[in-house]
Amino acid sequence: MFRTPVRQYARSQWTFLSRRASPAVSNRVLVTSQVSYFSTSRRRDIMEMTGFTDEQLTVHEAIKHICSNFPNTYWQERDQQEKDPKEFHAALAKDGWLGIALPESLGGAGLGISEATIMMQTITQSGAGMAGAQAIHANVYATQPLAKFGTKEQLEMTIPNIINGTWRTCFGVTEPNTGLETLKLKTLATKTQGGYSVSGQKIWITCAQVASKMILLARTTPLEEVKKSSEGLSLFCIDLDRNQPGLDMRKIKKMGGRAVDANEVFFDNYKIPADTLIGEENQGFKIILHGMNAERCLLAGEALGLGYAALEKAAQYARDRVVFGRPIGQNQGVAHPLADAYMKLEAAKLATYHAARLYDSNDGAVPFHAVGVACNSAKYLAAEAAFTACERAVLAHGGMGYAMEYDVERYLRECLVPRIAPVSREMILNYVSEKVLNLPRSY
Ligand SMILES: Cc1cc2nc3c(=O)[nH]c(=O)nc-3n(C[C@H](O)[C@H](O)[C@H](O)COP(=O)(O)OP(=O)(O)OC[C@H]3O[C@@H](n4cnc5c(N)ncnc54)[C@H](O)[C@@H]3O)c2cc1C
Repeated sequence: MFRTPVRQYARSQWTFLSRRASPAVSNRVLVTSQVSYFSTSRRRDIMEMTGFTDEQLTVHEAIKHICSNFPNTYWQERDQQEKDPKEFHAALAKDGWLGIALPESLGGAGLGISEATIMMQTITQSGAGMAGAQAIHANVYATQPLAKFGTKEQLEMTIPNIINGTWRTCFGVTEPNTGLETLKLKTLATKTQGGYSVSGQKIWITCAQVASKMILLARTTPLEEVKKSSEGLSLFCIDLDRNQPGLDMRKIKKMGGRAVDANEVFFDNYKIPADTLIGEENQGFKIILHGMNAERCLLAGEALGLGYAALEKAAQYARDRVVFGRPIGQNQGVAHPLADAYMKLEAAKLATYHAARLYDSNDGAVPFHAVGVACNSAKYLAAEAAFTACERAVLAHGGMGYAMEYDVERYLRECLVPRIAPVSREMILNYVSEKVLNLPRSY
């Protein structure tokens, strides 16, 4: 009943691409880059690939191949027109990539978060940026708690349709009045006959306009009535049915990643059936924690990809652009910041795939807090390294860094997202201060 094409597909793509990657191709790329600074020639990877497993390299090559059908001009247009990249989502869904980290028994590929991370990194690195990543991101990680805690019926109903792209999903946690204080969230799901009635407001919900499903975190017991603040929240997988009363949403105008929508979502006695509850009532926070470390790894990968993409563009421009009779990259004032940004990305890359490996090890040998520290640290370091790379890439381009057609301005706008979401830099520093350094909790 379920398809499991990713492993086989990735294998066949790997063979196909190895055959095509002749030295003549890479020579042509280098020669072209020397003669024209308006060149749109294919870029080579600057990221050091040593240390990745065969499976990860296979995923990288296969995703890169799909992304090559979506050039920078596609993403420039989508960004300018604020138009959803639905063809991109469909291309990944067609070959089962949205199920990369979902169990094979549900039609997924059964690979780990390490492979999902390199998939997300390859997407942003292709030039798709955060827009490309955010178009599919929630389908990859928000389905993790559902796959682990959902009933057989829930899984059979939803997961195959998410993997094959029929349905898109979004993740509804953040609220305007509680922000990072997730345990205080106020959206209430009140029990009714046959289900729940939801009232409240969510904010910054990515892809809500195009999603049919939402993984929703809502309060089922008022905060005043619970013993611990981590209790009383429940997780649901709900339909976003615009024809039903009580649901409204409004797009937020934003700085970057404009191809994908971000929204305020309003619930006013919106009715949902009882079987939308995932796992036990009031245990939603524990359930959602399952997906949070995975999400940090994916975000770290997305940030890295963006940073490498920016740096590749900067290096190419610095080789090609001639001022004062020589390439600008011959000036150490241009070259050194880029070299420094490269090393920061490489260090963050090690932290990222170390964290993903710990997450995937899943054999109980690694304490949960060690996984949390590694995943949060990776997200922090990768986001900072990406910001450094993107900012320096714009500066290395001089005035052209500000022009849309050179892409680095788009990357700079987008690279702020991993610094802010899903958890801010400050909250990660708070977490490490408390959990690793044993300092008094500051919030
Ligand atoms: C592009 C984008 C997409 C998003 N997509 C989604 C989505 O799909 N689903 C979803 O649920 N959410 C989404 N979010 C929301 C995102 O997760 C939140 O914006 C983020 O968690 C920060 O919350 P906040 O904006 O409420 O910040 P606030 O909680 O208001 O914090 C504001 C600032 O104060 C700092 N701060 C607050 N308290 C402390 C403290 N005690 N110590 C130190 N510093 C502190 C924070 O670090 C932050 O810098 C998205 C956000 C963006 C920008």
